[in-house]
Amino acid sequence: MKGQDFEEKGERQLHFFCQCGFRFNDTSDSIAYKARILADQDVKELVEILEYGEQPHSDDLELFAPACDLIGRSMFQCPQCGRLYVEDSDYSYIQFVPCEEAEPAPEVNKKLLISAHGKLWHGCLYGDWKNPKPDYLEHKGYIEPQVNLDYDNLEFDDYNAFETRYYEIFEELKGKGILEYAVMRVNGIKKHTWSCE
Ligand SMILES: [Zn+2]
Repeated sequence: MKGQDFEEKGERQLHFFCQCGFRFNDTSDSIAYKARILADQDVKELVEILEYGEQPHSDDLELFAPACDLIGRSMFQCPQCGRLYVEDSDYSYIQFVPCEEAEPAPEVNKKLLISAHGKLWHGCLYGDWKNPKPDYLEHKGYIEPQVNLDYDNLEFDDYNAFETRYYEIFEELKGKGILEYAVMRVNGIKKHTWSCE
């Protein structure tokens, strides 16, 4: 089945909905449910590009563009239901349902597409507090750890609870050595920033 709810055909879609209702957003970097496809038939060519890059050369674009072309297609896995969407050559997505012995299997690994570094992948921590609460949000405060660890209860309506939890997670991720960047915003103003550099 082709992906659904596309706004237009013939271009890469920035948002689309899974069959289960989850909304895929393809608008940022380092998305945990997205991976690039490198065909085994193209590995040799990519290795040749990397080997060329190790030699002295003058033009970086000569390497960058052809390497990106080789990994131009993407796939997405729904973090709610585990369905896989593989990009076709016309920017549509073909949907695959996880099965076990020909039966749909809901209990599958839903993190198939995360970094090769797994839980050790270096990510970011975001905290955002808005008071008064805007109409488009359900809660005043949200903490978003973009790392390959699971955190629950990251929505807040009590400021002290929000701030305490943010610093707790910040110290934990920093302690594990997997944090690149952290920022906490209160009503749009940066109250805390940290970078590993
Ligand atoms: Zn889904």
